Amino acid sequence: MNELEAVDKIIDSFVAAENKRLMAEVERLQANIARLLQLVGARPAVCSGCKANVVWVRYSSGKSAMHNHDGSSHFSTCPFAKDFRHKHGAA
Ligand SMILES: [Zn+2]
Repeated sequence: MNELEAVDKIIDSFVAAENKRLMAEVERLQANIARLLQLVGARPAVCSGCKANVVWVRYSSGKSAMHNHDGSSHFSTCPFAKDFRHKHGAA
């Protein structure tokens, strides 16, 4: 093995270890978000547009909105968001 191959191998193993660490961190955060959504009384639902599993979250303002299980707004990721806005009026 020449020097370059040795360096490549070290980098590969570093990247693999870092990926593994990040995946574990993402899983931990997703589990935290799922618990938090349960605690705030988020209601599981299915998006009427794209049929994705989502949760309805009621904000302290009184408004409700669909969120993905990772906590992001479903309105910003749903491919049918435009129809949704049209049908239900801008929230
Ligand atoms: Zn959707």
